[in-house]
Amino acid sequence: MSKINYSLESYVRPKLETPNGEKKLLLHSCCAPCAGEIMEALAASDIDTTIYFYNPNIHPFDEYELRKEENIRFAEKLGMPIIDADYDRDEWFSRTKGQENEPERGARCTTCFDMRFQKTAQYASENNFDIISSTLGISRWKDMKQINDSGVRSSEPHELPYWDFNWRKQGGSSRMLEISKKENFYQQEYCGCVYSLRDTNNWRVSKGRDKVERGVKFYQEAKLKLSQLN
Ligand code: SF4
Repeated sequence: MSKINYSLESYVRPKLETPNGEKKLLLHSCCAPCAGEIMEALAASDIDTTIYFYNPNIHPFDEYELRKEENIRFAEKLGMPIIDADYDRDEWFSRTKGQENEPERGARCTTCFDMRFQKTAQYASENNFDIISSTLGISRWKDMKQINDSGVRSSEPHELPYWDFNWRKQGGSSRMLEISKKENFYQQEYCGCVYSLRDTNNWRVSKGRDKVERGVKFYQEAKLKLSQLN
């Protein structure tokens, strides 16, 4: 049996369908690199998709702005509407108080997902969307079950379904990287919050590496550097 080629160049995108034929999707997006593949997949389908950028976890503010602008840039390229929601950082810090030393994928991340999905579900409910989903699950650094559980928990009170589609499958993870390079997206090097920046830096220092230099790394340049090495 011949192997399917899932790479961006040769992949013929199928028309995706929502679980019960819902037409209007509000897609919570965390950043352009995670969203790129998902946005292209939805743009190739008959699903009326709006992007909801609500990420008050991202710290500091200039990092938040950079990640948001990258996402807006790609949404505009695809002609997909994008909603720029609040940078509600005080509420985020208040909710995660006492969880500062939780590891990534721990209780603080559940609080963080819940906050972002609750707001997404509320906006969806108030603006006649049929279903919500998120780009968070495409990252292999994340616990998909933790994300899906949070999505369901947050959407249920609004009687909205949460679409737990596995965006990593059928080459999704590798196309995510291909699109990031093609679009020269900003390549963030920590999850987003001040604690993830602290922990990433501690880990790097323990390995004798330099700390994260924010705002300077883009996928295309990383690719160029790699090709220069070969
Ligand atoms: S590590 Fe990421 S998911 Fe976890 S709390 Fe921080 S920003 Fe949120």
